[in-house]
Amino acid sequence: MSKLVLNPGKERSLLRRHPWVFAGSVARLEGRARPGDTVEVVADDGRALGRAAWSPESQIRARMWSFAPDVSIDHAFFKRRVAESVARRATHPLLAGESGVRLIHGESDGLPGVIADRFGEVVVVQLTSAGAEKWRDAIVAGLVQATGCKAVYERSDSDVRKLEGLGPMTGCVYGELPQGALTIVENGVRMEVDVVAGHKTGFYLDQRDNRRLTGLLANGRSVLNCFCYTGGFSLQALAGGATSVLSIDSSGPALEVARRNVALNPHLDATRAEWMEADVFAALRALKTEGRTFDLIVLDPPKFAPSAAHADRAARAYKDINLFGFRLLNPGGILMTYSCSGGIGLELFQKIVAGAASDAGVDARILHRLSAAADHPIGLAVPEGEYLKGLAVQVG
Ligand code: SAH
Repeated sequence: MSKLVLNPGKERSLLRRHPWVFAGSVARLEGRARPGDTVEVVADDGRALGRAAWSPESQIRARMWSFAPDVSIDHAFFKRRVAESVARRATHPLLAGESGVRLIHGESDGLPGVIADRFGEVVVVQLTSAGAEKWRDAIVAGLVQATGCKAVYERSDSDVRKLEGLGPMTGCVYGELPQGALTIVENGVRMEVDVVAGHKTGFYLDQRDNRRLTGLLANGRSVLNCFCYTGGFSLQALAGGATSVLSIDSSGPALEVARRNVALNPHLDATRAEWMEADVFAALRALKTEGRTFDLIVLDPPKFAPSAAHADRAARAYKDINLFGFRLLNPGGILMTYSCSGGIGLELFQKIVAGAASDAGVDARILHRLSAAADHPIGLAVPEGEYLKGLAVQVG
């Protein structure tokens, strides 16, 4: 096995179990390694630090598979890691009954570059690193064995693969997708999941708990759901007893799925749901001009700041939508506002929301600080994994 020798002092983050080796930490590679090959990582003084996947094209030159220096990185290793990850979800009471669950959450589950989401009998896998790519077969076999699923569909079409020198890969890698629309039941509401053409792996599972809270808070309230995608928050609000739900997204296909989702749930009152295909920034201004107001507003925008370099522009965008959110709220109303930008931390996000409230001239208090559900854990050694943050804020 090739040896990846680090510069002096660069073993420190690995000793804290942070799994990335950046280009600047690498002194030399002794021996040859192709992308994805396993390398032995050693400190400047020769101390063995563990085994990693070699990613020569990426600024993250290696990702640790294991901090144990003598563990074999082979099929059995991946089967074990996958099985452990799946088993952790199976014993969590909030996840046990759900048909849509994230089974593997990358670094936080000891599998850098690997995402796997289960939607009923189908598992969707996304591989975003050279190491994950190399072990595709073992990972897929592990998922099949641990879940007994009928199909594994690959959605490795994320842009981050380019950073690893990898092209897109999509399609069935095990079994066959069932005929007809795939559905899950989330918090008692049936939702269609388009694993082939939907965003990411098809559905944003990370907001499950926050959607449930929205359902509870929506009772008797008029609701505005911005960036609604296929209506996850909207349907929970309807199920929770909202008097009306206006949902906005710029994606026509997502709104079509959203409408079908209402029809999939005959217990919901479809006449209370209004769907609008529009740019949220413009729509919020139009709603203000029309004098419309709401008792509960959800803002769940896409990632405005993929990294800290985009933070300034992103901060302005967050400020803008939150300002209009506050302006459209009735007294006593609640704003549930999120950021899934890795480049914007919770502290900064809270400052932005506070600035928006102050500009809108409202008094507001935080009822809940929100984050991703338990199937999206955050490794204590990998704080970068904490991408989703939210605040439920009440005005008046
Ligand atoms: N809240 C959703 C997930 C939101 S993902 C859920 O619970 O499932 C972000 C959504 O924002 C996507 O559906 C995307 O189509 C939409 N979007 C992105 N930019 C937009 C814009 N400027 N105006 C309206 N929608 C936008």
